[in-house]
Amino acid sequence: MRDKWNLQGIGMTSQRTRDRMVARLREQGITHAELLQVMIRLPRHIFIDDALSHRAYEDVSLPIGFQQTISQPWIVAKMTELLLEQPERPKRVLELGTGSGYQTAVLASLFAQVFSIERIGSFQDKARARFSALKLNNITLRHGDGYQGWPAKGEFDAILITAAPEFVPEALLEQLAPNGCIILPLGAEQQKLVRVTKTESGSQIETITDVKFVPLVAGVA
Ligand code: SAH
Repeated sequence: MRDKWNLQGIGMTSQRTRDRMVARLREQGITHAELLQVMIRLPRHIFIDDALSHRAYEDVSLPIGFQQTISQPWIVAKMTELLLEQPERPKRVLELGTGSGYQTAVLASLFAQVFSIERIGSFQDKARARFSALKLNNITLRHGDGYQGWPAKGEFDAILITAAPEFVPEALLEQLAPNGCIILPLGAEQQKLVRVTKTESGSQIETITDVKFVPLVAGVA
């Protein structure tokens, strides 16, 4: 049967190109072996429109339509690695900003259950088709506004946000399990990647590095 998705890839989307991307991630300080294995296997090119898929393995963010971008591989790896540093591996993970679905697919390969919310409906349909081609069946999608979280599915052991709010949404802290964490880009013009950990008395925040994400926008499109 013809592989409509070209999962294996060829030329600039081949296994060798994927191997080189992961070698660069290692050089840039990503060390988690299981995560690197997932990124070696996962065909990032199917998450990007055909016209740009030859650039899928460059360490850059790329346009995916509606003025949104797929995050660069390093940032996907870094945010995921921060979740993997939790003392216990999170089981239920909530993501805000499904977008192309690449980060979602990385999460679904490492954590038992992934919930992902996206405000732009057509992204969701494309992402769903990609997950089904990859036989990833532990992902539950919702078309909605991430600022509200997903109260019916909480608590979550961890939350990952792939667009930047200017403050940590209170609803998300409420839906987080004790000692759970939220990884997110925080800020407007000047953004920092941060890890917020829920503690007995409230929360604690750690700054990781400077980043540039699209804003987390309230409401559904
Ligand atoms: N992880 C995605 C990133 C896409 S960019 C990828 O790598 O492809 C950020 C995404 O967040 C966009 O798809 C945007 O529509 C979505 N987004 C922005 N505000 C949102 C909100 N309030 N709730 C849910 N999704 C939101």
